[in-house]
Amino acid sequence: MLRVGLGRDVHRLVRGRRLILGGVCVDEDRGCVAHSDGDCLAHALMDALLGAAALPNVGVLFPNTDEANRGRNSLEMMEEVVQIVLGSGLRVANVDAVIQLETPILQPFMEPMRKNLSRALSLDGGRIGLKATTAEGLGPVGAGEAVEVCGICLLEARG
Ligand code: MG
Repeated sequence: MLRVGLGRDVHRLVRGRRLILGGVCVDEDRGCVAHSDGDCLAHALMDALLGAAALPNVGVLFPNTDEANRGRNSLEMMEEVVQIVLGSGLRVANVDAVIQLETPILQPFMEPMRKNLSRALSLDGGRIGLKATTAEGLGPVGAGEAVEVCGICLLEARG
């Protein structure tokens, strides 16, 4: 049995916050407005995992009305999501994501991100696709006002 899942997340960027993606701080000065740590990459991938398992999304599992989730490390939430997926008789086969961000260039951060995701997902780094692209100056991402991530995953039945 194979199950595919899709996730998408967008966060507004403001000065005076750190931008965390895949558990890595990629910008000290301009980051996400969010209740948790605002890790847009982790959020999109969690929604992909939950979608593939036909489970409620990340906003339902970890509501922004819950004080326990304030500033929370999203990779910790991802570990919980993986446990929920495993509990549904499924396991992660691979994930892939596209990060859209105007600046900074994310290439130097890709390997640390992959390492963090590998740990949180209990998944070999060779099964984690990560790409980054700009919006070529178009729209809110292009204006540097937002970060957007699309994630996809494949789940398979546990052997
Ligand atoms: Mg989010």
